[in-house]
Amino acid sequence: MDDLAARLAAIDERIADAARSVGRDPSELTRIVVTKFHPAALVRELYALGVRDVGENRQQEFSRKAGELTQLDGLRWHFIGQAQTNKARAIRAAASVVHSVDRARLADSLEAAADEGDPVLDVLLQINLTDDPGRGGVAPGELERLAAHVAGLPSLRVRGVMAVAPLEEPPAPAFERLRALSDVVRAVIAEADWISAGMTADFAEAIAAGATHLRIGSAITGPRPERG
Ligand SMILES: *Cc1c(COP(=O)(O)O)cnc(C)c1O
Repeated sequence: MDDLAARLAAIDERIADAARSVGRDPSELTRIVVTKFHPAALVRELYALGVRDVGENRQQEFSRKAGELTQLDGLRWHFIGQAQTNKARAIRAAASVVHSVDRARLADSLEAAADEGDPVLDVLLQINLTDDPGRGGVAPGELERLAAHVAGLPSLRVRGVMAVAPLEEPPAPAFERLRALSDVVRAVIAEADWISAGMTADFAEAIAAGATHLRIGSAITGPRPERG
């Protein structure tokens, strides 16, 4: 096995162990490989290894790679980064799931970007688990209102919630808050039961707190190339 295949297999093993250790079935989990900063060629290699869910966090890089790889049948792109409203059309054109809907205006822009006959777009509501309003995500106190707003947009389907663990506290209690906030959304939209949480450093804690979608980058792809 080459290095990439070995790292992928090792992470999948650790995910499965983490799931079983808290009594969960590993098949409930979707492992998204975050390929940001890596070339489209790496996505091709991952695809050849069976990966079908990949994540990107910058619109330009995302659009470029997705454009290069349209022939990879069944590949699902997850957009996980901060999204500007004027990029909504480009994001919608290539994403299967947008994890980072954190304000009504962004949801409205994604809605307005739907062309007739487009499939419904799956979205997650990103929640800010820190006290810093500058971080991405809706404040917990505004989540219910955002959920109700997005639920009213016919071309978007709210599937659940997403968050990044804060740097300034351990991940487990933060992910427990996320789990509770997931219930707030499900009280508005019963079927919105996805929880996107867990990265290289904290996926075991996320799995313990009920995560359904893990976003794992460097542990699989290796260190990210330097940005110029
Ligand atoms: C980069 C990134 C990840 C993956 O991070 P790793 O630590 O490399 O696993 C997950 N989620 C988001 C939102 C990211 O930007």
